[in-house]
Amino acid sequence: MKRFGLGMLGLLVVLAVTGYALRKTITLRLIERLVERNMASSLLDELPDGLHVALCGAGSPLPDPKRSGPCTAVIAGERVYIVDVGAGSSRVLSRMRLPQGKIAGVLLTHFHSDHIDGLGELLMQRWANAGSASPTPVHGPSGVGAVVDGFNLSYRDSQQYRVAHHGADTMPPGGAGAVAHPFAVPAVDEGRIVLERDGLTITAFVVDHSPVRPAVGYRFDFRGRSVVVSGDTKKNANLQRFATGVDLLVHEALNPQLVGLLNQGAERAGRPRLVKITDDILDYHTTPVEAAEIARDADVGYAETWSGPVSVGRDGTLVRLPADSEAIELDELL
Ligand SMILES: [Zn+2]
Repeated sequence: MKRFGLGMLGLLVVLAVTGYALRKTITLRLIERLVERNMASSLLDELPDGLHVALCGAGSPLPDPKRSGPCTAVIAGERVYIVDVGAGSSRVLSRMRLPQGKIAGVLLTHFHSDHIDGLGELLMQRWANAGSASPTPVHGPSGVGAVVDGFNLSYRDSQQYRVAHHGADTMPPGGAGAVAHPFAVPAVDEGRIVLERDGLTITAFVVDHSPVRPAVGYRFDFRGRSVVVSGDTKKNANLQRFATGVDLLVHEALNPQLVGLLNQGAERAGRPRLVKITDDILDYHTTPVEAAEIARDADVGYAETWSGPVSVGRDGTLVRLPADSEAIELDELL
């Protein structure tokens, strides 16, 4: 028994020494496999026909070290639409194996910096991944043109370098950047159909993120399934109206207790500017409890509520809504 034990120990030592000596090779093999898996497979091929939501950034409104800036990918059949593009969200899309070359359009809810500061990277990735011949359509309420112009100008030189380096066949100059598709903000109670294509309808509706105007949310309807993405808003009756009966509500939420702690900490640290900012942000967001109340009152199939299915979104959260069914399937991809 003792001999057997010593034998096992010897074997483990040999394995450990060999493993240590081969660590570079083992790491390279692992990376090789990872690269192959990520390049050869696509999340889109693994989804049933239907309307699906992948959170490419769940860290809003407060910055979160484990969550990227606000970003919601809505997949309708073969088409991918991205609602808001916060910092880091393009990388989350890559990690989820959602091919950015397949992005059919971006929709912005409003123009706060944390909702648009990942747009440059996403436009670049879409262009590089697919060699798109036309720029990315970016839909948004009036004012989206200035945002798009700004990104196009900032990235102009970088785009030229890439065409010069890789050639126009690989990086078609006409596919770089974005083209703005502005729409007039609808009145309260009225929806504005932003896009209708192959059975998908995207409707914008106004929310209340005052003093930020315009600010809208979006409703997606496809093959008998429906999703509402709130954007940033305080608790809002118009949002509740447009979310009535939807399968899935993706709603922002800000924890007032957490913000209260930040506020008190700033007070104690003698940081009056932070005291003011942490005091101000509470009045134009929704608390988790209020978001749950909206979901309950709008009779949503899935959201954040104490009586129904609950989920606090993370980067990589995937919700599948198979076509013409009532199934709601939740997965964590990362
Ligand atoms: Zn905002």
